[in-house]
Amino acid sequence: MNVSTNTYQRPLTRVIQRIGDAAGKAGRDPSDIRLVAVSKTVAADRLRQAVLAGVETVGENYIQEARNKFSELGDLPVQWHFIGHLQRNKAKYAVRIFDLIHSVDSVRLADEINHQAERINKTQPILVQVNLAGEPTKSGVAPEAVEQLVRHIGTLPCLSLQGLMTMPPFFNAPEKVRPYFKQLRLLRDRMRKLDIPNIDMNELSMGMTGDFETAVEEGATLVRIGTAIFGARK
Ligand SMILES: *Cc1c(COP(=O)(O)O)cnc(C)c1O
Repeated sequence: MNVSTNTYQRPLTRVIQRIGDAAGKAGRDPSDIRLVAVSKTVAADRLRQAVLAGVETVGENYIQEARNKFSELGDLPVQWHFIGHLQRNKAKYAVRIFDLIHSVDSVRLADEINHQAERINKTQPILVQVNLAGEPTKSGVAPEAVEQLVRHIGTLPCLSLQGLMTMPPFFNAPEKVRPYFKQLRLLRDRMRKLDIPNIDMNELSMGMTGDFETAVEEGATLVRIGTAIFGARK
């Protein structure tokens, strides 16, 4: 297909450029930051175009929606990340599709993902989602409970913990979210120092369309961006 007619070429290039600029400002290597193109509500044909335009990782929020798209697009050379709230009874589908699950926030969910991964002989990469502001409407484990969950995950043979994820309050107000991004980085650094066996603590999944540059400045390694690539959702 002719790249110049691809709707997503321009917004994608722009987002990648902005990530690069933010990395430069913070003295970071842009290649340490992965763009997760958040494609919830984006139909399979549009998502295919985005992948042809250069998207290498897609982020999905809903299992059924992701299953439908995966059945159509599973042939594409793209990584699939799960970023939504995962119900335990959907873990069996999640392990079949996703290269990284960002949203593990309880011992019971970790146990179930481990169990389902074991059944298909997989080691499932995951992140622990942290609810930094204690917002009741958001998923995520409280910061004080992260260490306990991380230690538990370290004992589960079919999980590979890679880092932390957060969705702070005040998205679209970058300077207001900066303290939360910083807090997640400090928490990650603290967990890393504990040297818990069988876990890695390199990834920080934080930053969306309204605040990803701030997240990159504060150490994000995965930025989850929907609107800036696909336009506003209905
Ligand atoms: C929808 C969503 C995003 C992307 O949001 P945009 O503002 O459209 O970039 C990122 N992370 C999560 C968890 C989401 O649900």
